Amino acid sequence: MDLISQYGSRVFSDDVMRQRLPADVYESLQRTNRLGLSLDESIAQTVATAMMNWALEQGATHYTHWFQPMTNITAGKHDSFLSPAGSGRAILEFSKKALVRGEPDASSFPSGGLRATFEARGYTAWDPTSPAFVRDGTLYIPTAFCSYTGEALDAKTPLLRSSQALSDEAVRFLNLIGTPAKRVIPTVGAEQEYFLVDRQMYENRLDLKICGRTLLGAKPPKGQELDDHYCGRIRLRVASFMKDLDEQLWSLGVPSKTKHNEAAPAQHELAPVFETLNIACDHNQLTMEVMRTVAKQHGLACLLHEKPFAGINGSGKHNNYSICTDEGVNLLDPGKNPEENLRFLLVLCAFIRAVDRYADLLRLSAASAGNDQRLGGYEAPPAVISIFLGDSLMGALNNLAQGGTAAKTVREIIHTGVTILPELKKDESDRNRTSPFAFTGNKFEFRMVGSSQSIAFSNVVLNTALAESFACFAERLEQAENEEKRHEEMVAIIRDTINLHGRVIFNGNNYTEAWVEEAARRGLPILQSSVDAIATLTDAKNVDLFQKFHVFSAVECKARQEISYENYVKVVSIEASTLLEMVSREVLPAVMHYTGEAARSYRAVYQALGEANSMLEHVKTLNKLTDEISSRLKRLQSSLEMSRSFDTFPAKAKFLCDVLLRDMESLRESCDAAEQIVDRSCWPMPTYNDLIHRV
Ligand code: ADP
Ligand code: MG
Repeated sequence: MDLISQYGSRVFSDDVMRQRLPADVYESLQRTNRLGLSLDESIAQTVATAMMNWALEQGATHYTHWFQPMTNITAGKHDSFLSPAGSGRAILEFSKKALVRGEPDASSFPSGGLRATFEARGYTAWDPTSPAFVRDGTLYIPTAFCSYTGEALDAKTPLLRSSQALSDEAVRFLNLIGTPAKRVIPTVGAEQEYFLVDRQMYENRLDLKICGRTLLGAKPPKGQELDDHYCGRIRLRVASFMKDLDEQLWSLGVPSKTKHNEAAPAQHELAPVFETLNIACDHNQLTMEVMRTVAKQHGLACLLHEKPFAGINGSGKHNNYSICTDEGVNLLDPGKNPEENLRFLLVLCAFIRAVDRYADLLRLSAASAGNDQRLGGYEAPPAVISIFLGDSLMGALNNLAQGGTAAKTVREIIHTGVTILPELKKDESDRNRTSPFAFTGNKFEFRMVGSSQSIAFSNVVLNTALAESFACFAERLEQAENEEKRHEEMVAIIRDTINLHGRVIFNGNNYTEAWVEEAARRGLPILQSSVDAIATLTDAKNVDLFQKFHVFSAVECKARQEISYENYVKVVSIEASTLLEMVSREVLPAVMHYTGEAARSYRAVYQALGEANSMLEHVKTLNKLTDEISSRLKRLQSSLEMSRSFDTFPAKAKFLCDVLLRDMESLRESCDAAEQIVDRSCWPMPTYNDLIHRV
């Protein structure tokens, strides 16, 4: 199949629907998609039958309601189209009900107490705005997942709710400033970083297999010091993986666009072309799943953890975000004339206000035990939210706020000023790679999200916080009696935003200590660990926000908080148990064994020559390390034991963060020191060298 016909060939796409559905049914589905109207259920059976017939042609035998429980991965159970029809025969069927609604037993998914096991029922509801597709013989139907009483149990439901809230408030605002729009849609492109390691090496590392990251491993002689991996030549084995990955993604309609080597050895990146948020989110989940599968088929393992290796860069996900009207106007595109410039600056102010007021929530949206290992490590933004605008754009805002005009085109201001160049869309020199939230010409790039996380929650926060800004601006503009007053009010909004929320703008280097100190002086929230960040979800200001825009109820906020704590506790506890097992059953026996060998060699040489001082020193060092590892192992064991005595998740999480992780770190130090002097052939697991330089 040629490239063009391969693209989307396994998707029940718009084209397929147009060909296979009666015109009125197709039109009705389109209205649901374009205008966000609710689905006309009377068309469901026609759609279901067309979908099944198409899926059967694709070789599918099963269908699944594909959903995103609060685990950062996806789930679904697979039912066959085949049903027994008596007398040993079978028929193929796919009912309207089977398309529209599913009832998986929800008791085994995180619910944060929303659903006791005795009322285990959960519902999945078809999301017709994200296309169904066939993969490995199953028709995947994107769905939202909620409880019997309607509480969201997944990542998608709040995403859809918040997109609706954003659209409503943005449309209200836009109509007041003279931009007609029926709908506003968030657009997202999620750049995905990942590592590839040899499958055999991976299988021999319990930590990688269970936790997705190495819990020990001495620094290799060469890490990323030479900056020779970033965008370097792609090795053959990796290239062949990437080729397969792209082909699979394209056939699933995922617009994979760019691939390159990242900064760390064995690290790579995939960037898709941006899409509407809901689809971008589904596609990012799919991308991660396909990456894992294709890697396995190539004898590789794909690591999506935020920090698989200490001492070299970890992986993130850059969430490129903008908002667009149904007429196709990107609201973060600087204008071509004064009115458009004014709109652009106002939209920019809506972002500034949103990010400043809800910085804690944005930080929370990137919080996870895995991402804690990465944020603030001079490779990723610190745990402080700020916005990068660039000095010139800042100048334009200040100018307007101080009574200047928007007449000078913003486009000119943010450009290089080199007139012989063709019109540039953004100023490449004005780039900042260290900011967690950077304006990059016609979109914002939120760079804090962890590589293994779903992008849903970050975008829920962005959508809802922006909805709040637009609502506030609209309220002010609605007060103005006439056109002139409204114009004055627009300028006043910009001035007030800069005065009240300008503190969140920082155009310098975010990786320095000085910035963290400066941020503290400015009163910006500094939430170092996930545990600190999770606490903010139930702050009154945040619950009010989510409630006001019908994104989460107070109960849902509390439940999500509970799930976040619980997840943190489980992840760190599993890591500690894994480390204990590896050290007591692999590292310590190896070190003891080698110490015995070294002692025997020493005795032999001493008996022969009457002296063997450096050998003696070596044995003593080994013996000391054996003691150190043993005692640190015991300390970790008892800390883990102690952590079980806390009866609330927040208290336990705090203890794990403050005590247990430190104990793990110090045990690791001793093991890594031993690794560096123990005979290579005795070392029980692949080393960093084996892992990062062997693909
Ligand atoms: P970078 O700036 O990171 O080098 P690009 O500017 O090419 O890379 O874009 C990075 C990502 O941003 C891509 O996934 C791209 O599709 C996405 N992107 C571009 N425009 C928009 C937009 N208007 N809304 C959302 N994402 C966008
Ligand atoms: Mg980027």
